Amino acid sequence: MKNVEKLKNKYAGCMLGAAIGDTLGKQNEGLLRKDILNRGRITDYGKAPPGCPGEKLRPGQYTDDTEQMLVLARSLIECRGFEVSDFSDRLSAWGKDALNDLSRKYLIGPASSFAIIRLNSGITWEYAGSNIPSCGSAMRVAPIGLFYKDLTDIEYKAAISSVPTHNSKGAIAGAVAVAIGVGCALAGMDCSGIIKEACSRVSNYDVDLSDRIKFSYGKRDYEPDEVFSEIGTSYLVYETVPSAFYCFSRHFDEPENAILEAANAGGDTDSIACITGALCGALAGTASFSERWTRGLENRKIIEGVADKLFEVSRSRLPAD
Ligand SMILES: [Mg+2]
Repeated sequence: MKNVEKLKNKYAGCMLGAAIGDTLGKQNEGLLRKDILNRGRITDYGKAPPGCPGEKLRPGQYTDDTEQMLVLARSLIECRGFEVSDFSDRLSAWGKDALNDLSRKYLIGPASSFAIIRLNSGITWEYAGSNIPSCGSAMRVAPIGLFYKDLTDIEYKAAISSVPTHNSKGAIAGAVAVAIGVGCALAGMDCSGIIKEACSRVSNYDVDLSDRIKFSYGKRDYEPDEVFSEIGTSYLVYETVPSAFYCFSRHFDEPENAILEAANAGGDTDSIACITGALCGALAGTASFSERWTRGLENRKIIEGVADKLFEVSRSRLPAD
């Protein structure tokens, strides 16, 4: 594959990986790890059990994580770069629709719901975001890591992209971590280099999160039962993001295992697996995931179309190499 084709394929790999992780992980969202292991690990698409936030979704259907990622990607394409006011306008319109849809409203986390209601009441993006340090801005941010080549651009744009909904230092740092991880993976850095760069950029916003990501990398050879109970898997960014980096660090050369590790982690499994899938796909492209997962994913063609357009627009901004 030529370099340009390889790069284009990584865009699709990243966005499909996020959606595949989200779709697999939704089956265990909110469940305890011990209950997941008792029921049997998930290995393929299926319905979420009654009582899970995604219980009304179809087997290959993704959740709010991928929906918000697509909102961000479309905003980047239309504006030919990140424009926070356009993104928050799109997000508030998307959120209004999702909160009025009975099959989707329970998927949206507390920080996003709070901010969507405030944005729709006329509060501007600078003041609408919640202080809850949850992972909603980290789970959707991958397109920024794809779009910009310069890591400092990625860092700043990712940080601002968090503010309309997640205005805590932890959530902002979480968005930076994932976007930088994607940008470094796209550039072909190795796993330890990706973690080092992500931790260094994250420490500009939240040293605690940076230390937790570093810790999760140090635990990559330890068994998941022990590591997930140490790191935590709740919807808080201090748990989801280090757990996703652990799954990535442990299995980056076997992306399907990375995603399944994340989808069975317990807690916020859709977001942990969404972030893990984005990192793996940005590193290794669409070949990372089995054909049956790609084929069974709802709106797969739409996601591929958005990824291709994102590639086209982002690369057209750069001088020809
Ligand atoms: Mg979700």
